Amino acid sequence: MRYIDPHIHCYSRTTDDYEAMYLAGVRAVVEPSFWLGQPRTSAGTFRDYFHSILEFERARAADFGITHRCTMGLNPKESNNEALAEEVLDMLPEFLDQHGVVAVGELGFDEITAAEEKALRVQIEMAVARDMPILVHTPHRDKARGAILLMDILEEMGVSPDKAIIDHSTEETTKAILDRGFWAGHTVYPQTKLTPERFANIYQEFGIERMLLNSSADWGKADPLLVVKSVALLEHRGADPATLQRLVWDNPIEFFGAERMDLPANGEAFDPVAANATHSSLRKDFAQ
Ligand SMILES: [Zn+2]
Repeated sequence: MRYIDPHIHCYSRTTDDYEAMYLAGVRAVVEPSFWLGQPRTSAGTFRDYFHSILEFERARAADFGITHRCTMGLNPKESNNEALAEEVLDMLPEFLDQHGVVAVGELGFDEITAAEEKALRVQIEMAVARDMPILVHTPHRDKARGAILLMDILEEMGVSPDKAIIDHSTEETTKAILDRGFWAGHTVYPQTKLTPERFANIYQEFGIERMLLNSSADWGKADPLLVVKSVALLEHRGADPATLQRLVWDNPIEFFGAERMDLPANGEAFDPVAANATHSSLRKDFAQ
């Protein structure tokens, strides 16, 4: 089995994690830009962070045989610092057009303020203009209400539902998301969010159509192997391995797009040296 973890914050993980992921069969990851835990005080730190996940993290993953892609966006929490948000939204387009950026995100709501909605809408427009997928974060609290509100905005703005994923879905939201034609992302986490057992129940009810499975491993007590462990549990319970393979490889490529993901062809070995060459050329593009 080969795996893509379509939502993981490698920036906050160790090389031990990369090593363990590779040994378990993870060959590619998508890293969404996120809130770093400490509020940023200037737009320049966003620029540095976007460069880090686009260049340095890609090289670091490549050293362990893993293809690294990312998504770019201003997170909802920091949209509330309006002066900062404006500067970040101005710089975002130059990053969205880089090779290796596969979606706009994570977008969403934190406190559901007017400033958050404004930044959300500006970024949805950027995605629509580029025909890029959108990765939408749903909050832990008030998840169902938040998911419905976000889907209403996406629909109202003319986003085709197959271009947006509503992430961190649970039993509470999966049906509503799939019924409206959006993709549903499922985060398996050691304590909060979903456990492998709960995801197995969702899988049994809904199958794999427009479904993604991720670890969202970050600064918290997370486990970057939970995609692999969830699939192992499903296989142990008798799920069809070919179907599981589609869930953890073909589906993320279908959602983000084969061209943007630009992964080695089926079965082809990944060449870390070539990946690092891309990394160096990117650096030249950005020289300033
Ligand atoms: Zn995340």
